This record gives sequence, C-alpha cells and structure tokens, in this order.
Amino acid sequence: MKVEDVIIIGAGPAGLATAIQLKRYGVNPLLFEREQVGGLLRNANLVENYPGFPHGISGSRLVKLFARQATHFNVKVTDQEIIAIDYEQGLFQAKSRHRSYGSRIAVIATGTKPLLFTDLLIPEDLTESVFYEVHELLQVKEKCVAIIGSGDAAFDYALNLAKKNQVIMLNRGERPKCLPLLWERAQQVSNISYRNHTQVAKLTKDPTAGMLVDCQYPAGELQFHADYLLCAIGREARLDCLSETLLGQANTLEGQGVLYMVGDVKNGIFRQTSIAVGEGVLAAMKIYRYLKESA
Ligand SMILES: Cc1cc2nc3c(=O)[nH]c(=O)nc-3n(C[C@H](O)[C@H](O)[C@H](O)COP(=O)(O)OP(=O)(O)OC[C@H]3O[C@@H](n4cnc5c(N)ncnc54)[C@H](O)[C@@H]3O)c2cc1C
Repeated sequence: MKVEDVIIIGAGPAGLATAIQLKRYGVNPLLFEREQVGGLLRNANLVENYPGFPHGISGSRLVKLFARQATHFNVKVTDQEIIAIDYEQGLFQAKSRHRSYGSRIAVIATGTKPLLFTDLLIPEDLTESVFYEVHELLQVKEKCVAIIGSGDAAFDYALNLAKKNQVIMLNRGERPKCLPLLWERAQQVSNISYRNHTQVAKLTKDPTAGMLVDCQYPAGELQFHADYLLCAIGREARLDCLSETLLGQANTLEGQGVLYMVGDVKNGIFRQTSIAVGEGVLAAMKIYRYLKESA
C-alpha cells in the first residue's frame, strides 16, 4: 500500500481550506468526499459574516468559489466515503468501499450530521418526503414545506424556501431560538407562518399528494397538508468513521502533530464557515512544519 503524507476526510470548507493551503506548500493531500464538495455550506441561504462579501453571498455561490479556488490549486477530490480509519504502527489506515489508504498524517474535517426526528415513527410511504437539509429541496416551487425547528438553520431554510413556496414552521418550545435578525426577517415574509408550543403528533400519507400533518398544541389540535417535511432540530459531530481505538488516542495523536480535527466536527454549537476555514489553514501550516522537520 502506498503511504501518503496527508489524507483529509471531508471536502467542506474546513477540508478544502486545508487542502488549498497544503497545495501552496507543495504538499499533495488525498482529499475524500462522500457527497458533494462544499459540505453543509451548500444549505446556507445568505452568508453575511464571511469577510469579503459586503452584501453577503449564498452558500451555494460561496461553495462554487471555494471549489474554483481548489481547482485553481489543482486540489483533487476523491469521491469516496471513508468508512473506517484507524492508527496502527505509526500510520493511519483509512478504508473506503473500494480500497485502503495509508497515511502519516490525517485531517478529520467530517463536519456534522443531523439529529434525527424521533418523536414519532415516519411511515414508510413518507420517508422520501422527509428531509434534513434544504439543498435537496431548493428546486421545488409552489409547494408547502413544514419545517420542524426554531434555530438559525430552521429560519435560514424557511427564508430560502419561502421565495417559491409556503412554509409552516413548528416549534415545540415556547420561543424561537434563532438570531433576532432572522426572526425579524421571517416575520416580514407572508409565505412563512410560525407556531410555538406545537408538536407533530402524526404524519399520514395524503391520498392525493404529500402528507397530512397532525399537531398538538396546548389549546387543541391542528391538521394541515404539506408536500415535504424538513427537520432542523440540531446536529452532532460526524465521527462514525473513526475507530474506538483512534478516538481514544486522539488527544495524544493531536499532541504529536499527526492528527488534526478541523471545523464543525469539533466545535459543538460554534459552527461557522470562517472558523472552519481558519482551522483548516492553521492545520495545514502545522502539517507543513511537521513534514519539514521530520524530513
Ligand atoms: C442553513 C445553514 C446556514 C448557515 N449559515 C452560515 C452563515 O451564514 N455563516 C457561516 O459562517 N456559516 C454558516 N453555516 C455553517 C457552515 O455551513 C458550516 O460551519 C461549515 O460548512 C462547516 O464546514 P466543515 O468543513 O467543518 O463541515 P461540513 O461543511 O459539514 O463539511 C464536512 C464534509 O465532510 C464530508 N464527509 C463527512 N464524513 C465523510 C467521510 N467519512 N468520508 C468522506 N467525506 C465525508 C461531508 O459530506 C461534508 O461534505 C450555515 C449552516 C447551515 C446548515
């Protein structure tokens, strides 16, 4: 097995920034992506806090720019999911469904995965109408989308979808948890209706199309038709491919400068593109120094 200097798992903002900076040093990382370049950022309606875009930029456009920059530096993305990674005898061993890869250094930039909606069993005939990220729904128009959640992502999704659709937001809590600015914007959009204290109690396939959503709230019950359900009820670190042994050794390996966790995968609720990018660049700088010193 050929041994690489660096493998990077995940081509979201963190992994791409790591790869671009490494290429500038003349280091060729192997960068793996299980889905599409750009990661979670593809879902963002309007990114207003990434410097360089005075009027904001959509996540999909920013991702296109990241991808162009990566191409400019000849960053190659391997379209494979890493299903397992371990560390043995001084080397990382990563496996995809196709083959195994060995590497001296590993960068984990795997981001997060959605928390699943488990309040009730989703009927089998509706699973294809239930989503956890908005990018899969951005082509739909003149539909009704029910969104469960009340955080920044839920409101960002609502503002995005309401450009062409009706949106009904359901929050089982007593108030929205999003940025005040998003709440104010949503209130000005007639296509968005929002309810507190409202819990989905039942989903049934509508014989015509879509689904019937039954909800409960303190004063009674509510039923409405929706074409799609989008759940935005939180996210957690995507660490599935790391073996238990590797997770146990992570602190030591990070201390040795051979393992790097960058971006959302390690930042809890502090999930931002600029942080992910900054951590990617920092990791690449440390990696370059490590490779130079150990040459
Ligand atoms: C609706 C919404 C709005 C947002 N708005 C903003 C905003 O305005 N400003 C801002 O700064 N941030 C915003 N964000 C957050 C931003 O998208 C994230 O902080 C950023 O994408 C994190 O980058 P990352 O590279 O750490 O992780 P991710 O973007 O999650 O990328 C991880 C990548 O790794 C891949 N991957 C995971 N596991 C594997 C594996 N085993 N093998 C191969 N590939 C794998 C994934 O497919 C993914 O492409 C928003 C997010 C959402 C959802």
